[in-house]
Amino acid sequence: MHKPTIDPEEEKREILRRYRSLLRVCHRSRTRSERARIRKAFEVAVDAHKDMRRKSGEPYIYHPIAVAKIAAEELGLGTTAIVCALLHDTVEDTDITLDDIENLFGKKERVIIDGLTKISGVSDYSNTSDQAENFRKMLLTLSDDVRVILIKLADRLHNMRTLDHMAREKQLKIASETLFLYAPLAHRLGLYNIKTELEDLSLKFKEPDTYQDIINRLQKTQAVRTRFINAFTLPIRRELDRLGLKYEIKGRTKSVFSIWNKIHKKGVPFEEIYDVFAIRIILESPQENEKADCWRVYSIVTDFYQPSPERLRDWISIPKSSGYESLHTTVMSPTGKWVEVQIRSSRMDEMAEKGYAAHWKYKDTPETTESKMDKWLQQVREVLESPSDNAIDFIDNFKLSLFSEEIYVFTPEGDLKTLPVGSTTLDFAFQIHSQIGYHCIGAKVNFKLVPLSHKLRSGDQVEILTSKKQRPKEDWLNIVITASARQKIKNALKEEKKQIGEEGKEMLKRRFQNLKVEWISANIDEMVRHYNTESALELYFRIAKGSIDLKKMKNYAIESGRILFEREVQPLPIIETKAAPAAPSKGETLLIGDEKQKVDYTLATCCNPIPGDEVFGFITVSEGIKIHRTNCPNAQELMSKYAYRVIKARWSNKEMVQFEVGLKFSGIDDVGLVQKITNIISTDMNVNMKAISFEANNGIFQGKVVVLVHDTEHLNSLMDQLKAVDEVLTVDRIESEFA
Ligand code: MN
Repeated sequence: MHKPTIDPEEEKREILRRYRSLLRVCHRSRTRSERARIRKAFEVAVDAHKDMRRKSGEPYIYHPIAVAKIAAEELGLGTTAIVCALLHDTVEDTDITLDDIENLFGKKERVIIDGLTKISGVSDYSNTSDQAENFRKMLLTLSDDVRVILIKLADRLHNMRTLDHMAREKQLKIASETLFLYAPLAHRLGLYNIKTELEDLSLKFKEPDTYQDIINRLQKTQAVRTRFINAFTLPIRRELDRLGLKYEIKGRTKSVFSIWNKIHKKGVPFEEIYDVFAIRIILESPQENEKADCWRVYSIVTDFYQPSPERLRDWISIPKSSGYESLHTTVMSPTGKWVEVQIRSSRMDEMAEKGYAAHWKYKDTPETTESKMDKWLQQVREVLESPSDNAIDFIDNFKLSLFSEEIYVFTPEGDLKTLPVGSTTLDFAFQIHSQIGYHCIGAKVNFKLVPLSHKLRSGDQVEILTSKKQRPKEDWLNIVITASARQKIKNALKEEKKQIGEEGKEMLKRRFQNLKVEWISANIDEMVRHYNTESALELYFRIAKGSIDLKKMKNYAIESGRILFEREVQPLPIIETKAAPAAPSKGETLLIGDEKQKVDYTLATCCNPIPGDEVFGFITVSEGIKIHRTNCPNAQELMSKYAYRVIKARWSNKEMVQFEVGLKFSGIDDVGLVQKITNIISTDMNVNMKAISFEANNGIFQGKVVVLVHDTEHLNSLMDQLKAVDEVLTVDRIESEFA
């Protein structure tokens, strides 16, 4: 490889040049002491990273300087954030510790850098759930300080801008992650420019050819667009000049990414999109006049061009919860094309570009904008803090709340509430208070009585009706769309089921006593098996509800404290194959686990079948017959390509053999949890464990255990017992050692 010649003196000069160019954009760090803090952070970072280089061969310190510059220039952040941006990689990559940061700079800096360190870079995810877990961790830092996310976005933006030097595989990973999470996050924080750049750069690396193709076509059509914009804006400019208004007009083309999106997702040809754009009119207007002035411009624009009445958006009277303020209208141009016109003041424009960060600049902004953002962050925190089923569901829900557009509704007192589009009266009730949600029976929307499932619209006035007797119902989960309402309902249902279950448990205990059946898990499992309930909790619940009547129990025998039901004969699982099964079975079924039948077989490690699983045999070239589960990931290929080598197989009734099965589970980390789990496995269920491992991270634990079971029935009841533990969120069978 070619090694670039390094001139250390020249490099030092370049580092200083870059540092000075950072200082030039630190407009908000004016005092001497603020400058001194930035200087100190710079010196600490230079020293800490002195022996490190980026993939491009450049000194590593270029990166933190660039991130700090983005934070100051493009996000408008202040001194603390600039200091943290300069130091953002020191704790993770160098000898500097969080204590050092606190001693050298302060508590606030420690919190922010701690947050940044927790969101480690792109790790090598072995599966999607790890990735989702990492995102979840990242979003959790939102509750520390929003600057963590802003600096992280600056970091990601610089990494995306300099992605050329990474290996192709890394490029794809980083670009996908950016598109999946960082761009929507930037969007939700109101950072539209950064969102667009992140999307465009992601596309550039994910689909370089398509990206380049769109760029080329945009260049070719540039002149046509400029001519159109000039002609379109000419009469407007004349009128604005005549009135002596100060303004700036920008014609903005769609981003490369949004053009690509239209072409690929909606099948619209490039020719129909390239000249679709928005005209932005930015007014130089004092804050007390800006609303009136914007409407004045609206009136001028619509004097020349016919507006589409459905496409008027007034985000000046009611700003978006991200703080976005603007007046949008879509008008018909003389060439018959719709053109979006955005009208806003220069203050609003800066808010739109820099989002949350610009709030600090305009201290005299009405309280509401800032508190709305806080409210949004509060909602995010609520979602984060309530344990959801698994990390992937969680991210999906969260992403939904990132993308969804909003509606604005009012309480009877006239308070404004923001909800995602599609929200129902029940969502609204839960947003006011969980107790209002639990007891909600309906609502009056604009004084008319409506049901829980009524979809709300912007401008509705909603009065929730409650009843003490009302309780959360299972079907409410189909009515609500907000993540926080869903979670509250789920928790309430689980709680209620448990309470009712307690009664059922007592009833079963009494029945057992009368019958002289011991209260041990083997007997409870027998009941669960016989009544085919999902779990013991479900069994108790159904007993309490009366859908299982213990008085009508029949076909059972009691032997020394054990209850046993007569077992129905299970139909034999038969594997359908198109071709006739070949030797050695000659159409017969291979019985597995039967000593009398001396057929050599092994259990496939890709799906680890155990008795009770539906299985088939596959004749391999050198390893005899392998037994696979019919839902083995390889089954379809084996059956379709080598049907002639597939033989029917079923388990013999012998239950004496024990089989190894791996289970993985996750949940909320809690004291004594490991003990609880191992107790269930070894004491309650009397199952042998071969190996167990736990890992806890940020309050979430992941565990793996290898157990010895007889068959699927045995396995399922073990899994149900584990699932019944409150802190346990998921229990899954590990399909293979590689999962
Ligand atoms: Mn970094």
